[in-house]
Amino acid sequence: MPSQTRYDLFIDGSWTKPTSGEWTQIRNPATGDVVGEAARGQEQDVKIAVEAAKKAFPAWRDTPASKRADALYKLRDLVARDKETLARTITSEMGKTLKEAQGEVDFAIALLRFAAENTRRLEGEIIPGERPGEKILIDRVPHGVVGAIAAWNFPLALCARKIAPAIAAGNTIVLKPHELTPLSALALAKLVEEAGIPAGVVNIVTGDGPEVGVPIVAHPDTRLITMTGSTPAGKKIMAAAAEHLKEVRLELGGKAPFIVMDDADLDKAVEAAVVARFGNAGQICTSNERTYVHEAIYDRFAEKLREKIKALKVGDPMDQATDMGPKVSEDELKKVHEIVEKAISQGAKLEIGGKRLTGGIYDKGCFYAPTLLTGVTHEMDIARNEVFGPVLSLMKVRDFDEALERANDCRYGLSAYLFTKDLATILRMTRELNFGEVYVNREGGEEPQGFHHGYGESGLGGEDGQHGLEAYVDTKTIYLNA
Ligand code: NAD
Repeated sequence: MPSQTRYDLFIDGSWTKPTSGEWTQIRNPATGDVVGEAARGQEQDVKIAVEAAKKAFPAWRDTPASKRADALYKLRDLVARDKETLARTITSEMGKTLKEAQGEVDFAIALLRFAAENTRRLEGEIIPGERPGEKILIDRVPHGVVGAIAAWNFPLALCARKIAPAIAAGNTIVLKPHELTPLSALALAKLVEEAGIPAGVVNIVTGDGPEVGVPIVAHPDTRLITMTGSTPAGKKIMAAAAEHLKEVRLELGGKAPFIVMDDADLDKAVEAAVVARFGNAGQICTSNERTYVHEAIYDRFAEKLREKIKALKVGDPMDQATDMGPKVSEDELKKVHEIVEKAISQGAKLEIGGKRLTGGIYDKGCFYAPTLLTGVTHEMDIARNEVFGPVLSLMKVRDFDEALERANDCRYGLSAYLFTKDLATILRMTRELNFGEVYVNREGGEEPQGFHHGYGESGLGGEDGQHGLEAYVDTKTIYLNA
């Protein structure tokens, strides 16, 4: 990506100046350098974008499903063609390693492909009516204009995850990327343009929550709101959407338990615990937020874990040898450090890290040391609130009952992990563990044909796969008589 790209808003198929006449500088969290500028959108821009999406809707709805699929395949091919540039854009604005960013682009490609493959699978039903010859048709129809709002931790994939199913199902969309990381979404908008997707079908309005997110939710013509982000923001969005009785889909925070039983493959479990905690510098909604290890293997597990954490290479995210890049911003770094300090003040033992990294390239960026805390108890704040950073809390449990009880005593319910070879434990877990997505004997990472869905304060609705796609259509019941 050329440094210092200045982007306008992408509305109605054109690059449009923001009504504010202002642009915001986007900084690389590894170096502090400005890597681009994004337009500061406001309510008036949202109105124009929703109007464009509304105007484009009837023709897109009536475009045959096979043609909508062709458009998505074309977009997928362009994303694949530009994989390296897109990955560099993600790393420059967000800080994850280039390796991880390449993986993120692959996930975006897979999401586009899944949506393309399934445009023709939004099938209706025919039910016999009570009257002679009557048929009751239950049709699947798009909502109209979708209002979409994304988080910063996967700046490309989270946008693809909303655009792909929305337009596959015949909706049009107004999307707001996160204010910290809009450049990947804007690069995607360029590819939407190149793919020849009709004007107004996909619109990108950059800006912050109050100036762009709030008007997207409040606009009477955005009939479905889909948001990925924090639980407090999700609650505000749901309350605001209630004003117009809109449908909302919220993909929010997590506090994944990572349970390791005494019969687990220890090396595999340690490796997965580290990947699931330090991947993307701990900034994943499915991250391992609390590691519960059976007392019989706790010491061996802890020993291997220390070695692995100490070996993590933190540094320039563009370097292929780097395991972990910076935190996304100064504010996020401070937030994580405060959580660690509080845990220590509440009695946790700091074994590794626990501080900002300094010296050399670290001085320019937001680098936090991979951190290990032991002696964490269930009552501490760190065991209850989402950390969203590279801090592993290790806890000892007597047995599966204790692990289950602690895991479930949580207001979040997105992802969980279980390492065991015992089928009875696995089967019991499927009934009793209150999380929407469980990884058994593996690290995290959703697949586009799965269903990513959280219980409790982790959200409402869910994304991916056939269930996720169906969120983007409503039903219409027709009592058909001659
Ligand atoms: P955030 O809530 O700060 O921001 C998310 C988006 O909402 C941003 O685009 C923001 O501008 C917008 N926003 C904020 N307040 C708003 C309002 N009142 N009205 C409309 N829009 C508003 O979250 P974040 O810091 O970007 O993301 C981190 C959080 O996202 C973590 O909690 C993480 O677990 C969660 N997350 C969840 C998933 C999932 O699939 N469940 C995936 C990724 C991230």
